[in-house]
Order: sequence, then C-alpha cells, then structure tokens
Amino acid sequence: MKMVIKEIKVNDYLTKSKLPASDYVINPYVGCPHGCKYCYASFMKRFTGHNEEWGDFLDIKICDKKINLEKIKNKDVFLSSVTDCYNPFEEKYKVTRKILEQLVDADCFLGIATKSNLILRDVDLLKKMKHVRVSMSINTLNENFRADMDNASSIKERLLTL
Ligand code: SF4
Repeated sequence: MKMVIKEIKVNDYLTKSKLPASDYVINPYVGCPHGCKYCYASFMKRFTGHNEEWGDFLDIKICDKKINLEKIKNKDVFLSSVTDCYNPFEEKYKVTRKILEQLVDADCFLGIATKSNLILRDVDLLKKMKHVRVSMSINTLNENFRADMDNASSIKERLLTL
C-alpha cells in the first residue's frame, strides 16, 4: 500500500510525559512507516483521524515555535515514544535533525530510541551534546523473521550502527 503523507502544524514539539525516566517526549511524526507488527504505539491511530493501517500513514509535524530550552533544563527528554524519529521519511523531511539542532546546547538528558541506521547521519550533532543516550532495539538475529516483523533497518545495519 502507498504511504499517505501530510504535513501538520503543531504548537510545540515538547509534550509533558508520565513515562518512566522521561519528563518530556518529542515525537517529530505521527504514525510510523516501520510498521512493526508488534508495535506498542499503534493505539495512536485512533487519535489521528487516519483510516489507513498503522504503518501506512505519516504526518510530518511542523512547528514554528522554538523549543524552550529553559523548560527542559536538567530534565529527561525522550525522542521518540510513539514513532521512530529516524523513519525513512526523515531522510527527506529532516524534522528530527532540525529538532536536534535546537537541542544541541540544551542542558537536558536526551534519550533517543530508533531501529534505523539513519541516525548515523546526525552523529555530528550527537557528539556536541552534553548528555545523550542512544538505544536501538534488536529483537531477533533472524533476518527473515525481522523482515516479516518490521520495515526498519536490517539486524546487521543495527549492529553496525551501535
Ligand atoms: S519503530 Fe517503534 S513506533 Fe515505529 S512501528 Fe516499530 S515499534 Fe512502533
């Protein structure tokens, strides 16, 4: 199925969070083209107004307001909780990269979770940050099983990225 892509305006990239070890979350996108069959975030679909299946739509968040760095001082910020901030469309839209450019001088504890080797593109920014932790989930070493479960990077690519 063809991906349904649209741009949406949001008021703020920061969302207050009750997740463990996350004071704020930033989800640069709504939806996730990685479309993992086991996705814990697919419940989000009912809040989006999309009829497509989870994994078949993506809203690109556009926000004119600058991230309030004072607000996240000494706070835990997680990128991202209900999408993969390095889904394949990030290569074109660069929303995550633009967010990182704002966070580069932030005095926060940034956590990034992804299943994509696209994060390597932004190593230059990650290296400049004071506190950053990157995690990558690897749920199997069987590449056929992985390919059946999700559309993210291969297991080999994930291991090489780490
Ligand atoms: S990468 Fe994460 S958010 Fe995206 S579909 Fe998979 S589990 Fe869901």
